[in-house]
Amino acid sequence: MAEKNKHNECSNCCEHHHNHEHHHEHGDCGCGHDHNHHEHHHDGCGCGHNHENINKKDFAFKVICGGLFLVVGYILNELGERTIINIPEFIALICFGISYLIVGFSIIKEAVEGVIHGDVFNENVLMVIASIGAFAVGEYTEGCAVMFLFTIGEFLQGLAVSKSRKSIKNMLELKPQETTVIRDGKEIVLKPEELKIGDLMIIKPGEKTDLDGVIVEGNAEVDMKALTGESIPVSKTAGDELLAGSVVIDGAVTVKATKEYKDSTVAKILDMLEDSEDKKSNAEQFIRRFARVYTPIVCAVALAIILIPPLFFDKGNWHEWIYRGLSALVVSCPCALVISIPLGFFGGIGACSKEGILIKGGNFLEALAKVDTGVFDKTGTITSGKFEYVQCECFNCHCSDNQHRELLKIIAACERYSTHPLAKSITLAFGHYADECEVKDAKNYAGKGVSAVVDGVKYYVGNEKLMKEIGIDFKETKSIGTAVYCCSDDHFMGDIVFADIIKQDSKKAISDMHKLGIHHTVMLTGDKQNIAEDVAKKAGIDAVYAKLLPDEKVNKVKELQAQGKSVLYTGDGINDAPVLAQADLGIAMGGVGSDVAIEASDMVIMGDSLSKIPVGRRIARKTVRIVHENIIFSLLVKILIIIGCAVGIFDENAMWLAVFGDVGVCLIAIANSMRTLIVRKKK
Ligand code: ADP
Ligand code: MG
Repeated sequence: MAEKNKHNECSNCCEHHHNHEHHHEHGDCGCGHDHNHHEHHHDGCGCGHNHENINKKDFAFKVICGGLFLVVGYILNELGERTIINIPEFIALICFGISYLIVGFSIIKEAVEGVIHGDVFNENVLMVIASIGAFAVGEYTEGCAVMFLFTIGEFLQGLAVSKSRKSIKNMLELKPQETTVIRDGKEIVLKPEELKIGDLMIIKPGEKTDLDGVIVEGNAEVDMKALTGESIPVSKTAGDELLAGSVVIDGAVTVKATKEYKDSTVAKILDMLEDSEDKKSNAEQFIRRFARVYTPIVCAVALAIILIPPLFFDKGNWHEWIYRGLSALVVSCPCALVISIPLGFFGGIGACSKEGILIKGGNFLEALAKVDTGVFDKTGTITSGKFEYVQCECFNCHCSDNQHRELLKIIAACERYSTHPLAKSITLAFGHYADECEVKDAKNYAGKGVSAVVDGVKYYVGNEKLMKEIGIDFKETKSIGTAVYCCSDDHFMGDIVFADIIKQDSKKAISDMHKLGIHHTVMLTGDKQNIAEDVAKKAGIDAVYAKLLPDEKVNKVKELQAQGKSVLYTGDGINDAPVLAQADLGIAMGGVGSDVAIEASDMVIMGDSLSKIPVGRRIARKTVRIVHENIIFSLLVKILIIIGCAVGIFDENAMWLAVFGDVGVCLIAIANSMRTLIVRKKK
């Protein structure tokens, strides 16, 4: 998944013409190189060069042979000029020519191809014009050196980019390994893709599961850092779920695979990370558009430097001005920006992943840095979503005891197939009452409740809104907490009350967000006003809107956006997927592995704790700052060098400085981008 193969340089080794636009027939050219072409991706810089795929042999050949002829040519030229020995000038010229062709052939070829495809302003074209121009004015050494240094620079850039990508991937420590499984009573070692559902995997200390599964035997301390960013180990025992990507630190377990590798949480995360490269940040899109305007402008400036002074002010001094103009041309390549910016975002996304924050693209990282309003769902987001039973009231039902077994049984049966946190808590507490029941036609009323046919009778279970919708005369409970009412088609049966507590880090997370520039915080909930206000007060949230249906939550977010606010919405993905989509940044408290949430959101918090948002916010801000630094630094250096060339302060050295302005600046920008990977913990 890692490196997209953008472009291969095979011109040196292959005699016949390769169609770079289409798929490469492997082995045709017999050059023995790996051509690995997928698609022809042109970098936005227009240089059409491969910044990532590096061919070391090819490079060594160019540098050694090309360098040798360059040095010989240089010495002969110097000797010739100083007339120590009388060597005809053309011998030196031949050496330069050979050097130029060895090093520059592929660049010239790319340049020609670029021009044929209408891409006149690509980097290769700039370099070819500059070097040929240098030859034309008799600066042979410079002409060759431009090509030579350009090749070295490209190689170093390629190395730096592929290295940094690799280190980002490694940092995630999610790469699948091999696993020992028991099949037919024998232990065999298989790759994750070869494992099937139901396989018994043996995970020993230090090993990692690559498939989601359930522990069937043994106890273990498990490190889920790669998934949740949380470094405190978790104890797991038989019956517990073990997610792919978890590392067993202590103890050994036998795990029965419940999902195939491709469906595992870890595979999803890796997919998401891969896709994130396609979701371009605004900064990236801007630079791509910018490069298209910038390069022609710089070319025009170079042309003006070459033509105007010798025609009007410094009449006839063509040699001098051509040299200056060509130097300006070399420095103008926008590669530094085009490479370093995506790399910076990629690093920021990687740093977030390490903290258990998954971001689906550079644009969302940018959004995280920018949002000024935080909107939150209540249940499962601010509160734990683990409801505790408070009380139960029965009305005209058939409960023979005061345990309310009959009512609890019906409610538990109706909630069996619901994924709402409330339903899960009910199932946990009373699910066993309903073990014998036959449940059919379960239906969900978003933000209201559920209905189902239990042992042949239809029941409705939900809040006041649902009761009103059915038109049942019900009695509102006085007790504090989230009430769940139950009725059949014709009569009200009773209610149970559950209470939820706020997560222990919610308050701190909200106050950190305030400090980090998310000035306004809002809670939206489908629950009752008094509970909502109580929770909001405890968590330190500014505004509350209660009794909202999912589409009303969407409208609230739209309202805030209409006021010019940039909104972050955090929810559990249950009943609020449309809100996640509407917000400028939708964050899912997915809980590890909640599919709906992972799909619907732009960012997923693996550990379900709100305090990840401030952590992500810091990384996002830093990433955006680094990207801006790169843009300003690169442009400033380039503009200064262009001005310097035009004014002539660099004299003989202009061309050398220009190469620095291109390659050197690019490497510095890449190095700066790598800083996005460093996460400083602030406690
Ligand atoms: P929130 O997540 O803000 O609490 P929801 O839209 O998820 O809002 O739910 C709103 C309300 O709808 C809940 O407080 C609850 O009263 C009711 N509700 C939703 N789903 C169920 C369910 N499965 N069983 C009972 N009540 C439910
Ligand atoms: Mg909810």
